[in-house]
Amino acid sequence: DQFHLELAERLLKEKFGFKSFRHEQQGAIQKVLAGENALVVFPTGAGKSLCYQIPAIAFPELDKADGSREPDNAGITIVVSPLIALMNDQVDALKRRGIAADNIDSSKTWEQLQIIHASMRESKLRILYCAPERLNNEGFVASIKHVPGGIRLLAVDEAHCVSEWGHSFRPDYLKVARFVEEIKAERVICLTATATPKVAEDICKAFNIRESCVFKTSPYRPNLVLHAKAIDYTGGTAEHLIGLLFGRRSLDETDIRFEELFRFLRTNPGPTLVYVALQHQAELHAEALISKGFSAAAFHAGLKHEVKKQVQEDFMAGKIRIVCATIAFGMGIDKPDIRNIVHWDLSSTVEEYSQQIGRAGRDGRISFCMFFLAPSAFYLREVFARGDLPSRQSLKGLLIDIIGAARGVPVGGVFKLSQYGQGKEFDIRPSPLQVIYATLELHFGLFRAITPEYSTYK
Ligand code: ADP
Ligand code: MG
Repeated sequence: DQFHLELAERLLKEKFGFKSFRHEQQGAIQKVLAGENALVVFPTGAGKSLCYQIPAIAFPELDKADGSREPDNAGITIVVSPLIALMNDQVDALKRRGIAADNIDSSKTWEQLQIIHASMRESKLRILYCAPERLNNEGFVASIKHVPGGIRLLAVDEAHCVSEWGHSFRPDYLKVARFVEEIKAERVICLTATATPKVAEDICKAFNIRESCVFKTSPYRPNLVLHAKAIDYTGGTAEHLIGLLFGRRSLDETDIRFEELFRFLRTNPGPTLVYVALQHQAELHAEALISKGFSAAAFHAGLKHEVKKQVQEDFMAGKIRIVCATIAFGMGIDKPDIRNIVHWDLSSTVEEYSQQIGRAGRDGRISFCMFFLAPSAFYLREVFARGDLPSRQSLKGLLIDIIGAARGVPVGGVFKLSQYGQGKEFDIRPSPLQVIYATLELHFGLFRAITPEYSTYK
């Protein structure tokens, strides 16, 4: 509503000195002010904290405007966060802005705790940060329950920890969800930088959040130019793939994608990542590039720690131009000027693909994401999607099925591509590429420039 909006904008300017809201901050704040539970999914550094900090300081003003409560009954906002080091920084920043905030952790002395408890009893503290473990402490729970005006808002940072589907499930977080009832929090806001649809669903279920109250930044990155080039070469046979999967140690001479790759790299200068599916592929690709005069190195989980560290450092420093890598490369890589991301194989999920191309162009300059798609890449992924590497014998049967189905012979009927489609069923017979694009478009709508050549596999 208009009053909420104006209040939020005024506090943004007066208390934080910012001109305007970013991303979906405004939408999330409005829901919270209106008394709804919300989920915010923004990347790190996008500004999730404001989504609970502004409401926390807005409540006394709202009360004054509608005359519903006295200032000594303004309640409190509790922020649950597993990152204690970051809590201190946040509290300091809030205090500098004249906002009554504090945090409770094991470093606090008895005297400091007494001061915090006293200001809570007087409803003077607007925001209190704590770690999830704190909720096991009965004394702590009792003291926040006795804040006059109650818990106006519970903010749950790193909310993906509530989901077993997330990468860092923490049983403590399930307790946070139950805790909402116990302390009678008026509303909840969950915040995370990483939520796949499954994780988001779990968070919404645990904290009772409606779909219309989920706020995500768009993954749309206007400076990334996405190209896909389907290349039909004769290598996509069962024999070829078995060779690949069982570690053939030589390049496939018939794979015309290499010529395409060399050409692409000559015409598109700058730091480049080439993602492949298998470790030995990373090495073979790096060797092939070096033999053509490119500066390249391989990176995968099977390499020695020192080697990996060196490759990473050299890439960061610009001493190596191209890294041929498996999924192992990327975590914690924050190189702003990566100009090209090449996908030789399919990523296992759309999120993974999106994360990998997201490493390009962090400096905002135009960058290219090239998807060199050959049938083998698709078959390979399909094999992985079905579980552990099967024996040579069963693999052959499986591949004949997959290839047959993909080529238009209705062998397996409709495939369940849960890896790509999050449980949705797609008919892959028209062409594997169509499925991939349909899925990418469906979930991300992130293509700015795309050159699909759908019909190649007919
Ligand atoms: P997150 O928790 O999403 O990683 P933070 O909440 O820590 O991000 O915010 C990151 C930085 O962005 C902080 O320095 C914050 O002050 C700043 N920031 C947040 N929102 C805005 C805004 N609307 N305008 C300008 N700066 C903002
Ligand atoms: Mg944060």
